[in-house]
Amino acid sequence: MNNNTIQLAYLLATALFIFSLKWMNHPSTARRGVLAGVAAMLMAVVGTLINPGIVAANFKWIALAVIAGTIIGVPLSWVPLTAVPQRTALSHAFGGLAAGLVGVAEFYDKFAVGGQGLGRFEVGALCAEVLLGFLTFTGSLMAAGKLQELKFIPSRPVTYRGQNVMNLSLLGLALIFCVLLVAHTHKYQHLFPFVVLLALVFGVLLIIPIGGADMPTVISLLNSYAGLSAVAMGFVTNNKLLITAGALDGSSGLILSIIMCKAMNRSFTNVLFGAFGQVTAGAAEAQKKTAKSCAPNDAAQLMEQASLVVIVPGYGMAVAQAQHRVREIYDQLTKRGITVKFAIHPVAGRMPGHMNVLLAEAEIPYEDLVEMDEINPEMPQCDVCLVIGANDVVNPAARNNKGSPIYGMPIIDADKAKTVLAIKRSMNPGFAGIENELYYAERTLMVFGDAKAVTGEIAKTLASE
Ligand code: NAP
Repeated sequence: MNNNTIQLAYLLATALFIFSLKWMNHPSTARRGVLAGVAAMLMAVVGTLINPGIVAANFKWIALAVIAGTIIGVPLSWVPLTAVPQRTALSHAFGGLAAGLVGVAEFYDKFAVGGQGLGRFEVGALCAEVLLGFLTFTGSLMAAGKLQELKFIPSRPVTYRGQNVMNLSLLGLALIFCVLLVAHTHKYQHLFPFVVLLALVFGVLLIIPIGGADMPTVISLLNSYAGLSAVAMGFVTNNKLLITAGALDGSSGLILSIIMCKAMNRSFTNVLFGAFGQVTAGAAEAQKKTAKSCAPNDAAQLMEQASLVVIVPGYGMAVAQAQHRVREIYDQLTKRGITVKFAIHPVAGRMPGHMNVLLAEAEIPYEDLVEMDEINPEMPQCDVCLVIGANDVVNPAARNNKGSPIYGMPIIDADKAKTVLAIKRSMNPGFAGIENELYYAERTLMVFGDAKAVTGEIAKTLASE
């Protein structure tokens, strides 16, 4: 097939990848964005398959890889929304493994023909590809295991003395090997498998000290490593599409990690070395304080008398899959002329956009979803703030308690509402493992129970009146 056709397919795919990211920025164009991404990937694959070098090769292996990918990929797409972070980690693991394996194959293929095409630049790119690819592979597997709470991978941070020194020494050793390989490829070719091995070990050690709580941020960081590995692979195989797609992947992963860190008011170093997510000693002690509670039908009556109700959804709504019951409450209240708004915190749930996706699934009008910065000035006028399975994102300690691990994190000012109704199953802490003084506040009433059951009860009461 004509090389121009292939380059045209690659060019179109690049443009579509960029448009895809742009369109995914807004819910009204997100569907188009996903379709553009799928079309771009299809064009990239077809463009590669019609490459004369590939046509000459045996298609049997490619067909086998497609079948294996389908067998693994299709069931992976069935996971519930709450398990998407670990599913994404698995995808990055496969991406990293693929890049790493291509790097190994390229290295030894070129060696088999006397090292042709293995200049310093190529060896440097190969080393980067293999290092980043394999550390992404094991790192992402560990991250997926921690999020899935697999028994043999503790999700709490595992720390020991000298850990950072040991990890950095391993990385340093791998980098020294890479430099030697670049300088004298033939002389030091035996070091190449050690680079692979060190990268695999480093991936595991990098993730061990990080708690399950910080995995979403780490996953998007690993995403950017996988992207950079693909860029290096693009340079090695002289494939411009891989370079641009990898750069888009790498930069979007990094931007996402930065957004998450900012929304939690934490730095990268704090995420990677902060051992965040262990239940603090104070949490148990504070539970001796008493919180007031009410039944779902009392909550319904309180809401009926309000003019402005602000609903703050959080991780608990996602786990309970309560969004459709929440929609029923929304319908009942708006039918009565009550204004209902949804306050969306950028890191509510376990991944950016988590709440937007769930509420869109329940067909809640997008214009009623209000970003944190916009809703906060309205909170003192809010008659009832209904907090559904949210905890850290409404914890006033982030504003008032300098000693709190979440101090400085922007929050939704639920505590400023005239009445707060908080639905959760117990007084247990949320993701950050710290108690929430909002639940003990004078104006707060807890509505204990599973979010789906409680919101269902509230909707039923409202419908029967
Ligand atoms: P959260 O702090 O994890 O709290 C969720 C609350 O939901 C828990 O206190 C839990 O209390 C309750 N819950 C769990 N299952 C429930 C059920 N079936 N029914 C009712 N309640 C249930 O959640 P959040 O307020 O959404 O905060 C998100 C946290 O994730 C933040 O700390 C954020 O920094 C972190 N994070 C988010 C992202 C992101 O991108 N979204 C990324 C990294 C980190 P009970 O056990 O008592 O029910």
